[in-house]
Amino acid sequence: MLNLAFKNRYQELGEGFYDQSNPAPVSKPSLIKFNEQLAAELGIEVQDEQSIVDLFSGNTIHNSSSPLAMAYAGHQFGHFNPHLGDGRAIYLGELEHIDGRARDVQLKGSGRTRYSRNGDGRSALGPVMREYLVSEAMHKLKMPTTRALAAVLTGEHVIREQVKPGAVMTRVASSFIRVGSFQYFAMNEDLESIRKLADYVIERNYPELAEAENPYLALFEAAVMRQASLIAKWMQIGFIHGVMNTDNMSVAGETIDYGPCAFMGFFDHNQVYSSIDHQGRYSYSNQPNIGLWNLSRFAETLLPFFVQDTDKAVEIAQDVLEQKYVKHYSDEWLAGFRAKCGLTKIDSASDEDDKALIDSLLDTMAKNQADYTLTFYYLSQLDKDPNDNDQSLRGLFSRPKAIDVWLEKWRERLSLESNTNEQRQTSMQSVNPVYIPRNHQIEATIRAAEDNEDFGPFHALYDVLQKPYEYQQGKENYMLPPEPNEIVHQTFCGT
Ligand code: AMP
Ligand code: MG
Repeated sequence: MLNLAFKNRYQELGEGFYDQSNPAPVSKPSLIKFNEQLAAELGIEVQDEQSIVDLFSGNTIHNSSSPLAMAYAGHQFGHFNPHLGDGRAIYLGELEHIDGRARDVQLKGSGRTRYSRNGDGRSALGPVMREYLVSEAMHKLKMPTTRALAAVLTGEHVIREQVKPGAVMTRVASSFIRVGSFQYFAMNEDLESIRKLADYVIERNYPELAEAENPYLALFEAAVMRQASLIAKWMQIGFIHGVMNTDNMSVAGETIDYGPCAFMGFFDHNQVYSSIDHQGRYSYSNQPNIGLWNLSRFAETLLPFFVQDTDKAVEIAQDVLEQKYVKHYSDEWLAGFRAKCGLTKIDSASDEDDKALIDSLLDTMAKNQADYTLTFYYLSQLDKDPNDNDQSLRGLFSRPKAIDVWLEKWRERLSLESNTNEQRQTSMQSVNPVYIPRNHQIEATIRAAEDNEDFGPFHALYDVLQKPYEYQQGKENYMLPPEPNEIVHQTFCGT
């Protein structure tokens, strides 16, 4: 048995919050990957591989753990579903991270629970590999996110469109409480439970708010600010979550529930990858609006705690959403894109002018099928004066002349900057990655694992993504956009 000690403050909230539910054993578990560094940060002392496999396949229940499935509801594509909950996930408890804050540990794909509805409670290997790669890449890209601790093959099959190998993913989060967790109690006007849940979230994730004049309003505001900043970060890295239902939005402001998510290749404001998002509700450019929509649903659950008078409470919530969310999002958006473009002298330049310059770059990229990540990476190599370095960037644009026009405006703006080429390039390269988990490469690692039981490509891609901002000799193929026959047009939830 591994030497660790789970706590479970969630369980103390009471029976209405969960269903006590053990993971269902699997027949022949084997380890795909274990995140040793994260494990060490969580104080997990590993004696041997077998004990990891036993715990993170769900075959052994640690004596300090009291596994449960959490209850929640949520709006899926705008439609309220009162009966969601952990249908294929089981919460093991919390562990203390070396940073002094607790983390929650959950198995995903660990068997049926009370909330499984028609599902089998299992995960296929592909989505587990995808979540492992993308969530750990996101962490290295400085995005607040759930983490991957372990991936285990079950030795069993799951039935999806085809028969697939099964796997269990262990994820670690600051919180698994979602907007939908609050909605679950709000639908029955169970104010007592909402208060308990809010108190729990404050204690766990926003302890500094416990002493606020109105901790519930302070919680709402703080969660709104974190979400605005998270979505601004997604936009800067070209990340499309793909299924921003209210049950997939963490109240702790972390990216959670990696399903049909994807990083953008060619830039398109309206890019959608998810096979089930027919209306583009969760398209790249709609993410900030949907964030606001989801947070409005969150506000509705907390209104009675703002002030007694409902009209006044609505006014307060609207004020937070319209003023704080919208303003914070646009401030963060602008600050992030300025950094990506090397624009640091913000006192001498107007916000409107810089925003127009950035928008015009994005429009030029969209009109010329330029790769999102490489555009910013190559831009980070350029000097104040045009020279041969410009060619790599120009080569990304179907009409290179279009980017020449923009570069001229950019260089004019750079004349306000006082740093050297090298200083600017270094700071731009610290925010513009060389490597992202590209869809076609993720697909290739899944194909190798599923078809040939070869996890080599998975480990190789993972290793490259550990240093996304560093050019790695010999790893140029990981930088490249897909060949036409490799382009992934759609991604799937894999549920
Ligand atoms: P997701 O697409 O992961 O956000 O899941 C939406 C809801 O469906 C959640 O309540 C999940 O627990 C549930 N769910 C998804 N896949 C399965 C499955 N294979 N078995 C049982 N429940 C599932
Ligand atoms: Mg979900």
